[in-house]
Amino acid sequence: MNDIFATLESEVRSYSRTWPTTFDRAVGSYLYDLDGTGYLDFFAGAGALNYGHNNPALKEKLLDYIARDGVVHGLDQATKAKAEFLESFNSNVLQPRGLNYKVQFPGPTGTNSVESALKLARKITGRESIINFTNAFHGMTLGSLSVTGNSMKRGGAGIPLVHATPMPYDDYFDGRVPDFLYFERMLEDSGSGLNEPAAVIVETLQGEGGINSSRPEWLRGLYDLCQKHGILMIVDDVQMGCGRTGPFFSFEEAGIQPDIVCLSKSIGGYGMPLAVTLIKPEHDVWEPGEHNGTFRGNNPAFVTASEAFRLYWSDDQLEKSTIAKGERVGQVLEEIAAEHGGAIAKGRGLARGLGFEDTNVAGKVSKAAFDRKLLMETSGPSSEVLKIMPPLTISNEELEKGLAIVRDSVKSVLA
Ligand code: PMP
Repeated sequence: MNDIFATLESEVRSYSRTWPTTFDRAVGSYLYDLDGTGYLDFFAGAGALNYGHNNPALKEKLLDYIARDGVVHGLDQATKAKAEFLESFNSNVLQPRGLNYKVQFPGPTGTNSVESALKLARKITGRESIINFTNAFHGMTLGSLSVTGNSMKRGGAGIPLVHATPMPYDDYFDGRVPDFLYFERMLEDSGSGLNEPAAVIVETLQGEGGINSSRPEWLRGLYDLCQKHGILMIVDDVQMGCGRTGPFFSFEEAGIQPDIVCLSKSIGGYGMPLAVTLIKPEHDVWEPGEHNGTFRGNNPAFVTASEAFRLYWSDDQLEKSTIAKGERVGQVLEEIAAEHGGAIAKGRGLARGLGFEDTNVAGKVSKAAFDRKLLMETSGPSSEVLKIMPPLTISNEELEKGLAIVRDSVKSVLA
C-alpha cells in the first residue's frame, strides 16, 4: 500500500517521509499501522489532538449527533450545534477568564483565522503594514505566509512581503539590546515606513519556529507598546492555545487581553477542522459577507468542541495536570541536555523541545525514536529542535515510557 503514496501523492508531502508506515487506527495516545503495531504519539497532530485520538467521551457525542441526522454541513447558518458551541465556549472558557470576545468562524483551518485577523486589523485601522516576528509561523496562504519567518516555506514562490516587517522575537539579541528598543526606534522614525503599522501578530511560544518561549514580561511589554502606539495586537494561539501551555489561552500568564486571537487545531476537540477568530467587541466592524467560506460551520466539530470545553475547561484539572506533566518532561530534557553537550531544553507546559547545536541531530533522533515506536517531529529553521508535544490527556505511565525512548534515542545518536 505504501507504493500508492510514491506514485500518486505530490512530492510536497513531509510526514510520510519521516514516518514510513501506513497508519490505520488511533486511540488515546497511540496510532496503529496496518500491521497493528502501536506508536506512542508525542506529536498529537501538531497540536490538533490535545485530548487524544478518538477521545471516548467526544466520540460518543459525535456518534449520537450523526445517528440523529444532525446538520453536518452548515455554512454559517444558525444551528443548534453552533448555538451550543457558543454557549459552552462562553460559559466554560471566556467568562471564567473575564474575557469578552465576539466569535468569528473564518474558515476551516488555522491559516483562515490568521487571514481574517490580518484583513480585519487592516480594515479597523485603515493601515496596511503588519509587524511579525523572527521565526514566526502563521500558515501557508499568501497573507499568513507573508508574516511567516521561514523563507523555505515560501517555496520560492516570491510572496509579496512589502507590508510585513519582521521584528526580533524575545531573546533574539541574547540580552545585548533592550527589549523593543529596535521596534520603538522604527515606530518613532517617520522615514522608516514602519511608524504606523496596523497590527503585530505574535505567537507566545513559537512551535514551528523551534519551541521558542517568550517571557510573560516580554509579552506584556509588547502589549503595552501596542496600546501606546494604537497598534492592534493579534495573538496567534492556533498551536499553543486550547491548553497546550497549561492555561486555555497561552497569553493568560501575561495578564493581557489581545485585540484579536486566532484559534484552530484543538478547538474542535476531535481532530476535525475548525477555526475561530476572537475579536474584541468594539473591533467587530465586519459587514455581512465581507469574509466568506464554504466550510465555516463544521457542525460535527461544534458538537465535539462543546463537550471538550465542558469536560476539560469547567475546572482547572487539565491545566494543572498539563503543567505538572510539562515540568516532568522539562526535568528529563534538562537531564538529557546535561548528559550530552550542545543540547538545550526548551519550552513550557506540554510544548517542549530539545535543541541541538548540530542541526543534523534532531532529525536522526526522530528517526531513532520511530524505530522504537515513538512519533516525534522536529521544528526550527534548520529542523534542529526535537519537538515533544504529546496529547494533554496522556497518562503518566505513557509519558514515562515515551521519555525513556527519547533518552535512549538521543543516546543512540550521540553515543
Ligand atoms: N499558526 C500557527 C501558530 C501554527 O502553528 C499553524 C500550523 N502549524 C498555523 C497558524 C496554520 O494552521 P493550519 O495548518 O491549520 O492552516
